Amino acid sequence: MGKLNVAILRYLSSEDFRVLTAVEMGMKNHEVVPTPLLASIANLKHGGCHKITRELVKHKLLAYEKGKAYEGYKLTFGGYDYLALKALTNRNIIHSVGNQIGVGKESDIYIVANEDGKQFALKLHRLGRTSFRKLKEKRDYLKHRKNYSWLYLSRLAAIKEFAYMKALHDIGYPVPKPADFNRHCVVMELVNGTPLCQVQSLDEPGSIYNELMELIVQLGSYGLIHCDFNEFNIMISDTRKITIIDFPQMVSISHINAQWYFDRDVQCITTFFRRRFDYESELYPKFSDVKRLHNLDVDIAVSGFSKGQKDELHESVDQFESLCEIEENEVENNNDEISSDEDNVEHSSDNEEHTDTSTGNYMDENLDQLATKGENSD
Ligand code: ADP
Ligand code: MG
Repeated sequence: MGKLNVAILRYLSSEDFRVLTAVEMGMKNHEVVPTPLLASIANLKHGGCHKITRELVKHKLLAYEKGKAYEGYKLTFGGYDYLALKALTNRNIIHSVGNQIGVGKESDIYIVANEDGKQFALKLHRLGRTSFRKLKEKRDYLKHRKNYSWLYLSRLAAIKEFAYMKALHDIGYPVPKPADFNRHCVVMELVNGTPLCQVQSLDEPGSIYNELMELIVQLGSYGLIHCDFNEFNIMISDTRKITIIDFPQMVSISHINAQWYFDRDVQCITTFFRRRFDYESELYPKFSDVKRLHNLDVDIAVSGFSKGQKDELHESVDQFESLCEIEENEVENNNDEISSDEDNVEHSSDNEEHTDTSTGNYMDENLDQLATKGENSD
């Protein structure tokens, strides 16, 4: 059984999905959804709910938590996957799931197919997973305190990725054609090609080098910086057609650190071409070369995320970005605490609580609008 067992979709009953959905709803306000609340949201008798949750826990779609003051359930990434897959299946976007083709730091990529057998790439965002792995088995409280915001951030990453991909594709930039998204999942065109990191030799590397540098400048002219423009996120086909992937971390060229991000993207290419293909050029773009021709950064914020809430969104995206940084630091710190001070549970638990209440609920309304837009057919 692989990590993503789609067959289970067919075994799960509508009541199972009702309970999973109820847990998801409960998690908007609770890190662990108390059993009575779950039963009432799912609108099943307490006993009926129990039987279903037991099965869902067995299949690792739900996790059971019991503390001194509470007892209840939370969604796992597995459970979240099934809710998203179910929605995408209902919408006839996905019919079957095939091989895993990529494991990123914070995502899993699968080949999927629709009913006609047409193949797509499915990207499941898994924000915080790296940290989660480090913490695994260490401290229960860390796991459940973080879980909701991980699901939430993963959903935000998928929304950002879909919105950027759509805007870029519409304007003719070489990215996969986006098909649909739901929760933390994005379905897109399956790119015919290999990541540049797997290419050992290249005829005339100079022409690809130039093309990539032009793509960085072109993106800048749209108002955007990729921020992860490297050999892992550049796909190249047999006919040397280039496709750029992986966008959740993109920033506006008006970002306060824009020049630094821009130079780093450029440098990734110069360094890679020097090391891998022994190619060096005196020509490389500078941030001052960028002439803004479009405002995709602003347009995406307006139409791609939520209409009429531009400022709020910008703020939220900024918050999202700084939150990711905070989360990383925090997890690092907590990790230190665990290894160095096993008794300091109360103290760090309080910190966790504080952080979660201050970050867990931001932009919920904006997101919910979009999320429901994508979930009508659930
Ligand atoms: P991450 O954010 O985890 O780095 P990516 O979007 O870069 O995720 O995808 C990880 C890997 O999956 C890529 O390096 C590539 O090999 C593969 N991949 C991603 N998207 C596609 C796609 N649309 N078509 C084909 N392969 C893809
Ligand atoms: Mg990547």
